[in-house]
Amino acid sequence: MGPTGARLDVAHRIRRLHPLLPAIRAELARMDHASRPQVVAYQERRLRAMVRWAAARSPFYRELFRQNGIDPRDIRTLNDLTAIPPIDRHHLVERGEEFRTFPAATMWSASSSGTSGRPVGVYRTPGSSAYELCAQARQWSWFGLNASSRRIVLRGSDFAADQPGRPVRDMSANAQLMVSSFHLDDEHLPQIMSAIEAFDPVAIEGWPSSMTVLAGLMQRHGITLPLRGIITSSEVMSGPSRALMRAVFGGPIIDHYGQTERVTMSGNCERGTDHVFEDYGITELIPVEGHPDRWEIVGTPLHNWGFPLLRYRTGDEVGPAPSPTCPCGRGFRTIGPIAGRAEDVFTAADGRPLPLPSTVVDDLVGVLGAQIVQLARGQFEVRVVPGPDYDRAAVAAHIHRNTDRMFGLGQQLAIVELDALVAGGSGKVKTAYVIGT
Ligand SMILES: [Zn+2]
Repeated sequence: MGPTGARLDVAHRIRRLHPLLPAIRAELARMDHASRPQVVAYQERRLRAMVRWAAARSPFYRELFRQNGIDPRDIRTLNDLTAIPPIDRHHLVERGEEFRTFPAATMWSASSSGTSGRPVGVYRTPGSSAYELCAQARQWSWFGLNASSRRIVLRGSDFAADQPGRPVRDMSANAQLMVSSFHLDDEHLPQIMSAIEAFDPVAIEGWPSSMTVLAGLMQRHGITLPLRGIITSSEVMSGPSRALMRAVFGGPIIDHYGQTERVTMSGNCERGTDHVFEDYGITELIPVEGHPDRWEIVGTPLHNWGFPLLRYRTGDEVGPAPSPTCPCGRGFRTIGPIAGRAEDVFTAADGRPLPLPSTVVDDLVGVLGAQIVQLARGQFEVRVVPGPDYDRAAVAAHIHRNTDRMFGLGQQLAIVELDALVAGGSGKVKTAYVIGT
């Protein structure tokens, strides 16, 4: 379901040329310097519009409001928002299409199995995709970077399967040099480094696990590459992994947290403090039972008019913020460290590291759950929980295609059907983990 290949290029162009871009950028710049009351006033104005829009156009919310006796006109403030019952992944899995306010064909779809193996599908308007990029670019601007800053991108990238033997793809029009996450070994390093040198990047962006593998490989070969920023997202980073990236790439880490559902966004400022990007969405922190120092992140996005989500429980948890204020002076609240996706790096049959392996099961359709485990090097088991629309042959073909394209040919793969996913060693159900090496 995610845009790939030629479709990705089209999506990039549309987002870069969207007619609302100047207005979005101006608004984001204004909120960057807004006081706390101005931030709240902005959120409440957008909230009122979003709730009325959802009540009028989204079949799911029409029913939810009716069943709960909620008059959308009564939802005016952040406090009023709590009258609306929260929703979670189950609602998207079971009734995803009912959230839409526009025809599916006018939007982009995306899906993810997240951290717990339960895939969800969502829709995004071109405008909200443009907003997403602008919100990220605003954070980069705190570090002297912008959307045109030339950067190396390591984000899985099945593009490499379309051009065998070439683990890089120059997308200068988007200021990006794509580097495959799945070709980071001694054999491919010379080719990757010469492409990077020719590209002359100022930043590196992508999955921390992939960037760590590349940094480790470069360090072993005595290579450093001074950059102005290390842009990360999607995964939790360990201290040693941060230190390694800093040692090889020099620049500051610019990390942001978001979700496929795109309900909230947060990230660190130039002073190293994590802030909630409050104009992106309304972020509530709901206490986690039995854990006085943990909260679940619940988000109400304020920009995706085609797929309204109100009080969406992300399942992601956060610890206490180190300090309520930050010397940067922004009106955005500070937030503690987020316990997001943390996966083992798999190993291919030929010894290549395979970072963020759950990407293989991220876009399956017709399943209620999916996970992948490494039984041994190059030997993987995909476990699926069939849903009502499960098509065994189609799902199997999809998994084999993803594995071939991402991990490369020559892997051993078994697919098993289960009633429920299996917890790993930590006792937690994870989308990807290693049993044997
Ligand atoms: Zn700050």
